[in-house]
Amino acid sequence: MGLLSQGSPLSWEETRRHAEHVRKHGILQFLHIYRALRDRHKDVLKWGDEVEYMLVKFDHENKKVRLLLCGEEVLQTLQDKGEKVNPNHPTLWRPEYGSYMIEGTPGQPYGGTMSEFNTVQDNMRKRRQEAASVLKENEAVCTVTSFPRLGCPGFTLPECKPTPVEGGASKSLFFPDEAINKHPRFSTLTRNIRHRRGEKVVINVPIFKDKNTPSPFIETFPNDDGEAAKAAKPDYIYMDAMGFGMGNCCLQVTFQACSISEARYLYDQLATICPIVMALSAASPFYRGYVSDIDCRWGVISASVDDRTREERGLEPLKNNHYRISKSRYDSIDSYLSECGEKYNDIDLTIDKDIYEHLIKEGIDHLLAQHIAHLFIRDPLTLFEEKIHLDDANESDHFENIQSTNWQTMRFKPPPPNSDIGWRVEFRPMEVQLTDFENSAYVVFVVLLTRVILSYKLDFLIPLSKEGVFPGLIPVLNSYLENMEVDVDTRCTILNYLKLIKKRASGELMTVARWMREFIAKHPDYKQDSVITDEMNYSLIWKCNQIAQGQAECPELLGVGFNKKQSGNKTGSL
Ligand code: GLU
Ligand code: MG
Repeated sequence: MGLLSQGSPLSWEETRRHAEHVRKHGILQFLHIYRALRDRHKDVLKWGDEVEYMLVKFDHENKKVRLLLCGEEVLQTLQDKGEKVNPNHPTLWRPEYGSYMIEGTPGQPYGGTMSEFNTVQDNMRKRRQEAASVLKENEAVCTVTSFPRLGCPGFTLPECKPTPVEGGASKSLFFPDEAINKHPRFSTLTRNIRHRRGEKVVINVPIFKDKNTPSPFIETFPNDDGEAAKAAKPDYIYMDAMGFGMGNCCLQVTFQACSISEARYLYDQLATICPIVMALSAASPFYRGYVSDIDCRWGVISASVDDRTREERGLEPLKNNHYRISKSRYDSIDSYLSECGEKYNDIDLTIDKDIYEHLIKEGIDHLLAQHIAHLFIRDPLTLFEEKIHLDDANESDHFENIQSTNWQTMRFKPPPPNSDIGWRVEFRPMEVQLTDFENSAYVVFVVLLTRVILSYKLDFLIPLSKEGVFPGLIPVLNSYLENMEVDVDTRCTILNYLKLIKKRASGELMTVARWMREFIAKHPDYKQDSVITDEMNYSLIWKCNQIAQGQAECPELLGVGFNKKQSGNKTGSL
């Protein structure tokens, strides 16, 4: 989830005092990178996926499933057994926000050849098996976007009670600080977002009104000091901590482009695809033990890291802050970056004018300068005492500090200094799916799309103020595939992936969100009151786990027959 510095984290008040310093040096660091690498060409197309996992433990006797707070130890073991002993190990493991989460990527990036699409699922399977192999009995690794009972009493193991008093990180009524990864970046982010905002974050998700759901749906919160009563809205599920958003899991893809201009073009083109692919990957209908009226996590994370003050949100006249800011740091992109996108930049962009002018003076073009000057309206949220004074020519921590806490649907990533990594873009909207098959399908679909966009010079751009129409991408992908040299086995794999995406798009197959809703609706304990009990949660996650392990079929979600990758079968028919 971004830059992981080690050291002594500063409080918000101390961090705030260094904000100008971080911005100033962040820009100098960016300029060093830009000057050194703007003309870098002929990097090859490389890409990689990131899958976020949750660790759970099943209690079959009491029919409960809980989130296991042992991500740090599991991560350590996985790294010790993997990348630390073998630089060519096929998997890499990284920490994530929740102490019940881990993130896995392939050991090496994938390259440009078509046959590599045929190895994605195997690598994901390896990751799942590797993680599972270091767990104990009744423990499992799950790719569920949002844990349905996240924030409900006793949802963690060991069980921890939230401490809603100042002094901790999130001050949440529901989400204990123990469920936050122990690396100081995560708790510091949590506390500093809250301190900068001046109050706890507020996440209100509409409740799904079923037959027996109280109307209006109003909750009372026993340990509330008044903040929750003020923030919670009738008919909404109220949440009050970063963990409700950043504690969700997603599926991301990062591409290395051949040059900076190709990266900027891909950034723009893929930006228009983000809402569509997010909808196709919808997998998170439940929050804090309730059935909600949304299917995707995005708005929840957006609110969960919204550090804007009341002034910045437009609720009070500007006095201590510089700008009104229309969105959270976690949101859709605000401006296109490539020349063909310029005419569509039709929303008001809040920028740091001094930074913009500085960048222009240094020869950065308007589109890139305004992009960076927009990201840099934000304050740094974490700063480590040991990392204040840096060598701007050879380090980029201050740039990365602001960059990596702008969590937009797409991220444009300059190369790190002194590395052989090129200009990259990150595709961030997708929800993680239950199985390696589905996750591979979504990843391959997006990567193929980039190939088609680049080969056919496709232009999907529309004004940023509008939602797009779905232009029918599968036919374009198919025609691209017909013109490519692809071995039969790989082609078969890809066609199966595209079939899944197509059927999800047409509604013939369910999204994970839809399937979960039906599972809960049909559960014998469900009282049509929008409540997900411990036992319902247990049966749902158990079923998800079985599907992911290939121990249960799920034709309504995956279709029939085509989700089994028959390794070794080189004669698959088309
Ligand atoms: N878990 C976050 C999500 O669901 C993403 C964190 C990251 O940027 O790695 O979108
Ligand atoms: Mg991540």
